[in-house]
Amino acid sequence: MDHTPADSIPWEPAPAEHFTGTVFFGPLSHASDDGLHALAVQFEPGARTDWHWHPDGQVLYVTGGAGLVANAEGERVTIAAGDVVYASPGEVHWHGALPNSPMSHLSLTTGGATVWEPRKVDDAEYTG
Ligand code: MN
Repeated sequence: MDHTPADSIPWEPAPAEHFTGTVFFGPLSHASDDGLHALAVQFEPGARTDWHWHPDGQVLYVTGGAGLVANAEGERVTIAAGDVVYASPGEVHWHGALPNSPMSHLSLTTGGATVWEPRKVDDAEYTG
């Protein structure tokens, strides 16, 4: 067993080249997790990812606040604490906070790194 107290999680700013607004990553995986990548993510109001996809899909478990998830097929859902969203392998999508609320989620992935599309979620896409 290994206990990491909350104030020992190495929170860091998310890479600005792939996000709009203020976003923090809290890594939860251990090196021994053998392929599982568990990440806590906190979005300030208005913050969101760029367009991207995950080779083996992604489970999002919303842990606080309220936000949005949308995909390139035009599906768009509002999410709140307790919701779960699954993005299929290769499904191009983005996620983020509402304009007037922060949002936090856990991201659970296997199969390697996020693949980033070369474009931001512009204001028109964000507003929907
Ligand atoms: Mn994603």
